[in-house]
Amino acid sequence: MSASRIGLDPEFAKKLSVFEARLAEQGIKVILTWGYRSVAEQNKLYAKGRTAPGSIVTNAYGGYSWHNYGLAADYAFVIDGNVTWNGPWDKFGKTARDFGLEWGGDWKKFTDRPHVQCTRGRTLAQMRAAAKRAKQ
Ligand SMILES: [Zn+2]
Repeated sequence: MSASRIGLDPEFAKKLSVFEARLAEQGIKVILTWGYRSVAEQNKLYAKGRTAPGSIVTNAYGGYSWHNYGLAADYAFVIDGNVTWNGPWDKFGKTARDFGLEWGGDWKKFTDRPHVQCTRGRTLAQMRAAAKRAKQ
């Protein structure tokens, strides 16, 4: 298991392995670049392009991303041995959709093609409430 899978929901991690295999069947090799992200890490990322240098990379504040619950993953392609974000995103997105994953490339407001998530019909508000209860 690669380090980027640590902290992922176990069922989601299994689902990702099958998703990766389905891409491989089409000759598409991918690498998971980021899975679980703590709320603190998310806030640091949110600051990028706002109160910290760089360009904006996320619209999600800590607790407002599925990465914070281990139910989202970001990918890049491996083409000719190089990690790249220039790849067959259409096939990637179609495979994700066919497999029941939500694809960030379908988002209208903040398109995020490397991103897939599995919400299982829940909302982030429900996830935040559950996390809050767990802390009490
Ligand atoms: Zn993501």
